[in-house]
Amino acid sequence: MDRQLEKNQVISLEITGLTNEGNGAGHFGPNRFAVFVPDTAPGDRAQVRLVKVLKSYAYGRLEKLNRPSRDRMEPDCPVSRVCGGCSLRHISYEAECRAKNGWIEDSLRRLAGIQPNLEPFQPSPSPDHYRNKAQYPVGQDEEGSIRIGFYAKRSHRLVDGGECRLHPPVFTEIAQEVRRFLEKHRIPAYREETGEGLVRHLYLRIGQISGEIMVCLVINGRTLPHIQEFISLLKNRFPMVSSIVLNVNRNKGNVILGGECVTLWGRDTIRDTLAGVEVELSPLSFYQVNHDAAEKLYSVVKEYAGLTGTETVLDLYCGAGTIGLSLADRCKRLLGVEIIPEAIENARANAARNGIQNAAFFCGDAGQAAARLAEEGIRPDVIILDPPRKGCDEAALEAVVRMNPGKVVMVSCNPATMARDCKRLAERGYRLERVRGADLFPRTCHVEAVVLMSRI
Ligand code: SAH
Repeated sequence: MDRQLEKNQVISLEITGLTNEGNGAGHFGPNRFAVFVPDTAPGDRAQVRLVKVLKSYAYGRLEKLNRPSRDRMEPDCPVSRVCGGCSLRHISYEAECRAKNGWIEDSLRRLAGIQPNLEPFQPSPSPDHYRNKAQYPVGQDEEGSIRIGFYAKRSHRLVDGGECRLHPPVFTEIAQEVRRFLEKHRIPAYREETGEGLVRHLYLRIGQISGEIMVCLVINGRTLPHIQEFISLLKNRFPMVSSIVLNVNRNKGNVILGGECVTLWGRDTIRDTLAGVEVELSPLSFYQVNHDAAEKLYSVVKEYAGLTGTETVLDLYCGAGTIGLSLADRCKRLLGVEIIPEAIENARANAARNGIQNAAFFCGDAGQAAARLAEEGIRPDVIILDPPRKGCDEAALEAVVRMNPGKVVMVSCNPATMARDCKRLAERGYRLERVRGADLFPRTCHVEAVVLMSRI
């Protein structure tokens, strides 16, 4: 460790990188001691106060910007400092995409020992207003006024409404209307500390293609006072609202949704179409949050899978089945596996609604289900893997290799576990053929990638 570095010391630092937590990174002194600084960008030269000095790196706070990076921009959101939802709002979107592409390349190089040749990064078609779902906590301030908004950075303090740039503007308007309604009738918000009060969350969904909106109030009870007024307010002011639902959640703890939904008005679900697949969404259905970017991501999967119509495709970690279903007309047989029973019900319903008859979905752990399919002699030509952030289980990859597919197309939301899993497949006779990054969550630190691995 550099002996000269101490807590509270102010150093002059050139920021040269951006970590996948959204911190700028620079190296200090002859030993190139790593220092991470929030709210900085590659190209910044800054005075940095060290707030935490550890053995091999330190965290600092930006004191003064001596020379701002060309990537910088003024955060274009009034609450971005308090909220902390968007950790990359201080740099341009172009710089963000560059950084995200770098994270993917870096992970493959460092963790998989692969020198990748990345295909052009796919930005989100829109960096703002892209979310089709919002879950606003509802609370009350000291004076008892209702607050609907978001929690401040690292806290449980509610900041009211402030238009969130990631949500469609109509969501903000609906939230304001609901806040006025709750306020007018003095309907109490739920309080986590005591378990008392009624209204917990306002949950909104919009179908990007259909335009249909679902308004769902999550409550600690079975009914809402003044229901008729609530319904007419919403449907008169927002003609695209086609479903108004209560979700009953009487559990303590911070899980947002309860298991039971009661439709107050309109349909139980809203519709949307994703990559040619018509879907119906209940409050509990799993669905891609950035519709347009998800379609672009799926088109990369389609290209990498290169189906001709004769193949058996296994979609592991399939969620509500949309990736596989969007390919069903290009393969002979589609199998999907997913651990959440409701998602599998959604997948089956989605197949039926779209008249897809060559698909079957199984509920279970990816590793166990794949092992069983392998034992039954199922030999998919293409296996699609879209695991959660922790990546694939060793057992799942074992079973994948046992089925001996010609191609594995991996979709990943975590470059580090993706690189680890690519390495494991590379050790078992697969070669990384193509890789491409895509952004589904602009202004946040999340990034997706698609990889094609082929059997050697
Ligand atoms: N492919 C889907 C969603 C993938 S998200 C889409 O594009 O919409 C990852 C999915 O993996 C989630 O639905 C999650 O429930 C599921 N999952 C997590 N652990 C699993 C496991 N051990 N076995 C099977 N599925 C799992």
